[in-house]
Parts: sequence; structure tokens; C-alpha cells
Amino acid sequence: MTFETVFKQPLDRRGFLGALGGAAAWMAAGIPKPARAAAARIVVVGGGFGGATAAKYIAQWGGAGVSVTLVEPNARHVSCILSNLVLNDRIKLAGLGFGYDKLKQRYGIEVVADRAVAADPDAGKLDLASGITVDFDRLVIAPGIAFDPVPGLETPEQQILVPHAWVAGPQTQTLRDQLNAMRDGGTVVMSIPRSPYRCPPGPYERACVIADFLKRRKPRSKLVLLDANADIQAEPLMFRQAFAQLYAGRLEYVPNAEVRRVSFEGGRKLAWVSDGLDGETAWRADVLNVIPRNTAARLAHDIGVVNVNGRWAGVDPLTYASTAAPRIHVIGDAQGTGLPKAGHIANSEAKICADAIVRLINGWPVDEPVRMQSVVANSACFSPITYDTASWLNAVFAYDAASGSMKRVDASFGEAPTRSKDNFEQMLKWAARLFDDTFA
Ligand SMILES: Cc1cc2nc3c(=O)[nH]c(=O)nc-3n(C[C@H](O)[C@H](O)[C@H](O)COP(=O)(O)OP(=O)(O)OC[C@H]3O[C@@H](n4cnc5c(N)ncnc54)[C@H](O)[C@@H]3O)c2cc1C
Repeated sequence: MTFETVFKQPLDRRGFLGALGGAAAWMAAGIPKPARAAAARIVVVGGGFGGATAAKYIAQWGGAGVSVTLVEPNARHVSCILSNLVLNDRIKLAGLGFGYDKLKQRYGIEVVADRAVAADPDAGKLDLASGITVDFDRLVIAPGIAFDPVPGLETPEQQILVPHAWVAGPQTQTLRDQLNAMRDGGTVVMSIPRSPYRCPPGPYERACVIADFLKRRKPRSKLVLLDANADIQAEPLMFRQAFAQLYAGRLEYVPNAEVRRVSFEGGRKLAWVSDGLDGETAWRADVLNVIPRNTAARLAHDIGVVNVNGRWAGVDPLTYASTAAPRIHVIGDAQGTGLPKAGHIANSEAKICADAIVRLINGWPVDEPVRMQSVVANSACFSPITYDTASWLNAVFAYDAASGSMKRVDASFGEAPTRSKDNFEQMLKWAARLFDDTFA
């Protein structure tokens, strides 16, 4: 499998349109859109990888038949993708921010700087924090994730002392600054939450980036990696090799170690994990990076669409319509199909959802055999292993009509045979294409 076959094709727009027959085929063939009395009002909440992509493609494919409103409180979305590279100064956080001007200018999307707080799917009304109510025919939410509370990290001050940096932004910069300020000979402790969580290889990638930073800049320091899971959750061969060889003596990997609470002792931070009996063991850190257990973002809980293990929003993978409220579609990390929680996947889901919405508002079927066969989501993740080398992991998931779920296409599954500088360069190109496809 070459890089081109693995990564270029899934992001190639014509390739995607060809694969997703529906609205795309209709657009490409120039078939006139059926007349509608009024444009369908589609409201999208969340301007990250899922929401921005959905707004763009619904506006493009829906044409004059839709009006698209994007609700997002922040003027710019800060990409988590590549954000681990801020920690070792490989890139600047400012370079990962994306505004919404192009979505407004190119596709006529109305962007509302506000936070959604409640929705009534029967009445088709979305309430915003400012007090405004927006009417919708269909609502798409892509609000991302929230975190379980960690005892000891209740206050904003404690959360700055122990950042998760699992939503890119100010916490990413804080963690970078803490690593830089740490004395040589210090200990960094980082924790990985129970699966499923945002970006399966991401924490192991972060561990490599931090270990590489320590190796180069603070060689007497070490990193302890506390994993709530029994084993490495993605690219196990690559990461096991990196931990055992590149970072031998510098990185200690501890499986089955879920952080239960955090406390503070002088200038040090303590992460408490079960000792396997009745007690607890404390890991002492100069820099502590606890990533709490993930769940769907608060909005999904508040509007009543979280119905998978009390954590994620169940959806029909053909349309991303909520199984609790079918006029609400849920895409991205908040959804509970079992697909990996990744930006590239969120971008794929957004296009499947956009195609379904254009079909549904026009009264076209979403379950024709040809469409079901082309409901495909691609997950690509590159992982920096050192300052200038990376690995990659690719998996394609296709709709399985018999089970009504997304299943991994085994032939598509691939991992980089080795880390390389070329992979690192390809990672930057892949990310640039994904950013472009989402925000431009
Ligand atoms: C360190 C790291 C590295 C990663 N690397 C990769 C990678 O290499 N490849 C990959 O594919 N994925 C990667 N990911 C995962 C990827 O970033 C996420 O899967 C992706 O961001 C999910 O997209 P989303 O649209 O669901 O959520 P987000 O991108 O988090 O967007 C959610 C948006 O919703 C907004 N929002 C939330 N609540 C509301 C509300 N009530 N009203 C209005 N707006 C709201 C937020 O402000 C935000 O802009 C990485 C993640 C991390 C943390």
C-alpha cells in the first residue's frame, strides 16, 4: 500500500463525490433540483472538523434549496490535529487556528457567534446562550467532547496547574510552557483515559513527542505514562518499539493505571492510581498532564441524544440522524457508532450526513443499495515519533447493511512499516488538505 493510495484518494473531492452517489451524482450530472416552496433551514452547531465540513457540503450540495447557519462561539477553531507538535516547539499554536470567513463568502453560510444551550426537535427550535432562538428543519450537532470530573481538579486554577490539553487552545500552550520551565531531572507524568476517547493514537504520539523533547532538551528527565487501558490502543508495534528502543530508560509505560484523583504537595503534583488491592499509589510529577475520561460534549447530554453507554449519541450511520430524535443529526466525536473519534473520520461522517440531509429534504431515499454501498468513512492518523519523523495508520469503514453498522474493511487497514522523515512531510501535506477541505 502506498501513501498515495492510502491518503490522497480519500480526500480527493471528485473521488469522494464519486463514491457517495446521492446528492453528488445529482450535482455532477446537472440534474435540476426539484422545486421547493422554501429553502430548508439547516442549522449546524460546532465549527470543528465535523460541523464546519457539514455546513460547507450541505450548502454546496443543497444549493438554493437550503439555508445553512453555523453556530460556533469561537471566532477561530484551533485544530487538535498537529497540536502535539506545539509541545516541542515544532509548530506554533497560532498556525492551527481557522476562521469561518471562507465558509461565509464562498458558500453563503450564515455564521452565528454563540453557544447552543437547548433544542426542541419537535418544534424545530434551537436556543442560544444569548437568548436568541433559531428555527430549523434539521439540526446537525458536532460539539466534540467533554471530560469526566477528576477529584482534585475542580477549580480553574487546578485545571491550569494540571492541563489536559485534549482540546487544543490555551491549555496546549500552558502544557508547552510547563514542559519548558521544568528543571532538568524532573518527572513528567501523563495519563491516558479508558477507551473510547478522542484520537486513539494521540496520547501515545504525545508521549513520544514529550520523550523526544526531554531527550534533546532535558536529558536527565523522565516521562511516566499511566494508561487506564490494559495495552496500547493504536499502532501498538510502532509505539512499543519507540518506547522500548528510542526512549528506553526515559519513558516508563504503566498499563491498567487509571488516575482516580489528583493532589498537590508543595510544588509537586500527585496522580493517584489503584494499587491493584484496596489502596492507591501516588505518582509524583513536576509536570502532570491528566486526560480525563471522555464523553460527548455537554450539549448532546443536555438535548437528550446521549443513549450509548450514557456517554455517546446513538445515530443511524446512513444519515447520522439521532436514534433518540431523528431531526437531530450527530457527527464527529460525540456520535456513538463505534467509529474512531478522529478529525478525518468526522470530516467523512459530515459528508455522509450532508448527502443524507440533501436527500431527506428532497424526499429521496437514503437506503438505495448503491448509496448504502458507498457509505464509507476513512480514518487516517499520522503520529510524530520524534522531532522530524512520523508514522501513519489508516483504516476504512464501510456500511454493513446486515447489521446496520459501520464495519472496518480489513483490506484497507494499514500501518506505516517504519517511522520516517518522508512520513513527517506527508503528515503536514495531509493535514493541510484536511484543513482546506474543512474550513475553505
Ligand atoms: C492531540 C490530538 C491530536 C489529534 N490528531 C489527530 C490526527 O492526527 N488525525 C485525526 O483524524 N484526528 C486527530 N485528533 C482528533 C480530532 O481532533 C477530533 O477527532 C476532532 O476534532 C473531532 O471533531 P468534532 O467536530 O467532533 O469536534 P471539535 O473539532 O472538537 O469541534 C467541536 C466544536 O464545537 C464547538 N461547540 C461545542 N459546544 C458547542 C455549543 N454548545 N454550541 C456551539 N458550538 C459548540 C466547539 O467550540 C468546537 O469548535 C487529534 C486530537 C488530539 C487531542
